[in-house]
Amino acid sequence: MIRGFYIYKCKDCGKTFWDADIEKNCTADSMPVYCPECNSSNTKICLFKTLKALLKGEYGGKTR
Ligand SMILES: [Zn+2]
Repeated sequence: MIRGFYIYKCKDCGKTFWDADIEKNCTADSMPVYCPECNSSNTKICLFKTLKALLKGEYGGKTR
């Protein structure tokens, strides 16, 4: 189940990118999101950046 799209920030290389927040099986946990730059799973949601981008009508490179 996809809960939404968020901007994530990689704590290893500092890259920010859009990805989906996906439920892990039927738990409340989220699937780990991997950085497209360095493939690290050390990423976290940037809720503030996501809201700002949504308000500006930006959806990153995702075409849906
Ligand atoms: Zn990275």
